[in-house]
Amino acid sequence: MKSIVFIEKNPVTGKLRNVSIELTYKAYSLSKPLKGEVIGVFAGDALPEDTDRLFQYGLDRLLYFTDERLKHLHSIAYKHILKAMIKSEEPDIVLFGATHTGRDIAPLIASSLKTGLTADCTQLYVEDYKDKGKILFQVRPAFGGNILATIITPDNRPMMASVREGVMLLPEKHPNHPVKMESFPVDFNESWIKSEFLSVVPKVKKVDFNSAQTIVSGGAGVGSADNFRLIRELANALGGEVGASRAAVDFGFVDKDHQIGQTGSVVRPKLYIACGISGQIQHRAGMEESQKIIAINKDPEAPIFKIAHMGVVGDVNEIIPVMLRYLKEEG
Ligand SMILES: Cc1cc2nc3c(=O)[nH]c(=O)nc-3n(C[C@H](O)[C@H](O)[C@H](O)COP(=O)(O)OP(=O)(O)OC[C@H]3O[C@@H](n4cnc5c(N)ncnc54)[C@H](O)[C@@H]3O)c2cc1C
Repeated sequence: MKSIVFIEKNPVTGKLRNVSIELTYKAYSLSKPLKGEVIGVFAGDALPEDTDRLFQYGLDRLLYFTDERLKHLHSIAYKHILKAMIKSEEPDIVLFGATHTGRDIAPLIASSLKTGLTADCTQLYVEDYKDKGKILFQVRPAFGGNILATIITPDNRPMMASVREGVMLLPEKHPNHPVKMESFPVDFNESWIKSEFLSVVPKVKKVDFNSAQTIVSGGAGVGSADNFRLIRELANALGGEVGASRAAVDFGFVDKDHQIGQTGSVVRPKLYIACGISGQIQHRAGMEESQKIIAINKDPEAPIFKIAHMGVVGDVNEIIPVMLRYLKEEG
């Protein structure tokens, strides 16, 4: 089973996006048991500085096309180039990161290859299906996150899926393959460039969940934007980052950049403290892989306690000040 992964560069850092590495390893774990190859496809103005890292996570080959005219995202040009690369390899599986770029290009390619695309998958696995042999099973939340749907494309190839950053785990030990890169010939057509970029203003990220070992998150139960200062104080005292449920964001307690869950960020810190969060499936989708979860909630029946490793039943506005006092005394 041959897999292709769309490789993306972060235009600000010039390095690989984490999701490209996560999906390379995922493709490796899907393809390798079936002796399939894992191929990366890249188009852009220049290769990411750390391209070699892909080969440390199971990539067999990288096909690339670089051209100054691809400095910015020109969807139609990307579609033509990546489609040509994919067609030349006839893969079974194609994986995209569900980034802004991936969300833009993946549907264009899927429709022009006349195949399906399952967006924002949370699980991918390969199994036998009826008389079709091994196919890709693509799992994603559906109907507002109330059910998990398993979607298949048994009659078409390639089977395409996108996955958000942080959803697929990277193991500590991983395969190290020799670096093998092939420049892909493209007859670039100027008519593929449909827009002109006058200026680009990078969005300043206020939250860094990637490097946070501890996340303290507040929900509707915190009660007000004013009380939310306790969440920030606890996060500061623990050297962590501030997270939030969608309800806390909707109530205006905190900025949307802090939202964790199905429509926010997916996180996996060493310690996640959920304060006044009920633990609905859409929130859990973003944090339940955390190594240790502590929940503080005044309702002993709150669903968050089902996934918490440790629970405190009580009022967050009373418990957090006690925790802060203790942390101060302990230095
Ligand atoms: C398509 C879709 C996408 C969604 N995406 C997301 C997402 O990305 N992230 C997300 O979080 N949600 C998301 N939601 C919303 C989700 O369904 C829940 O509504 C939301 O997570 C609830 O947030 P909450 O737990 O803070 O609020 P609530 O469900 O209202 O829970 C508040 C909790 O606080 C407790 N509480 C109240 N007062 C106190 C107190 N003083 N001390 C201690 N505990 C107290 C209560 O017992 C309760 O358990 C999405 C929903 C949909 C339909």
